Amino acid sequence: MEKISHAASVLRRGGLVAFPTETVYGLGANALDEKAVAKVYEAKGRPSDNPMIVHISRASDIGMLTPTLSPAIVKLADNFWPGPLTIICKKREEVPSIVTGGLDTVAIRLPDSSIAIELIKLSGVPIAGPSANLSGSPSPTKAEHVIADLDGRVDVILKGPDSRIGIESTVVDMTVSPPVVLRPGVLTADILSAAIDEPVELDPALLGRGSSDEAEDSAEIIPKSPGMKYKHYAPTAEMVVVEGQRKRVTEEIKRLKSMNERIGRKVGVILFEEKEYVEAAHDFYARLRELDDEKVDLILAGALSYKDGVGFAVMNRMMKSAGHNVVKV
Ligand code: AMP
Ligand code: MG
Repeated sequence: MEKISHAASVLRRGGLVAFPTETVYGLGANALDEKAVAKVYEAKGRPSDNPMIVHISRASDIGMLTPTLSPAIVKLADNFWPGPLTIICKKREEVPSIVTGGLDTVAIRLPDSSIAIELIKLSGVPIAGPSANLSGSPSPTKAEHVIADLDGRVDVILKGPDSRIGIESTVVDMTVSPPVVLRPGVLTADILSAAIDEPVELDPALLGRGSSDEAEDSAEIIPKSPGMKYKHYAPTAEMVVVEGQRKRVTEEIKRLKSMNERIGRKVGVILFEEKEYVEAAHDFYARLRELDDEKVDLILAGALSYKDGVGFAVMNRMMKSAGHNVVKV
């Protein structure tokens, strides 16, 4: 409590605090303080048109950030907060445009982590918090990942437990009708749709390049969530995703591995147990960082099924990590 309370006072004074959440670790700053938010972009090396999620400690604080609370927004907050759901709403004027990358909307989340909730509550302000990694590198799911990326660049790193979920929240845009999922997460469009009793669509950009056969030609579709256009989650090593029937994938990975080892390259493999999607989400970023620490030259990753909602969310990250470098077998 003492450490959280110290961290909260650092936030109040305009400092930067990295903190655990159930999705990934976040890098927080007072969302209402433009200078503090500017420091977050600087510490992460993040492009300034990539907006941040604003974190609150109780659902009723949503009204501080948005003037328009539709019944559907209230239902989502009731059903899924605290939890891995980020809701895009119209923003109030008080929310500085540096937080929202110049958009007239704001992304809001109430994280399911007692440390995060206590920190936000004690700071007394909403907390802008992107993932606590250097921009472009895999998201941090352990305190040691945050230390590796941000030690010396931020004021406080709160060490908590490993992130329970391991991939970022689902981002749903509630300013359009029907609502649209801009970033997939463990809460799928179907789950959200059932809760609000209306259809929820997937941003067509999510069905683009590499994501199975869905929309091979849709590489031109412009993502609505600005963050989605950047290089993301990338390990230092070259990475290739092998997609297809399980048995063939295993064989192809084996073949590519020995072929590359013969020419002197160090090869790492990411092959999750079949259908263990939740576990894959939990381990994915940590595996990328582990393999980078082992200084492998090439990472071969087996694709998961896109048909499973969590599998789809992990594949969204895996494809970006690999720069959409896919071998189909
Ligand atoms: P991160 O902060 O790394 O968890 O990423 C936050 C994600 O939410 C990024 O992909 C942003 O582009 C997206 N995001 C944040 N605010 C908005 C907004 N107002 N409209 C659309 N997407 C947003
Ligand atoms: Mg991020």
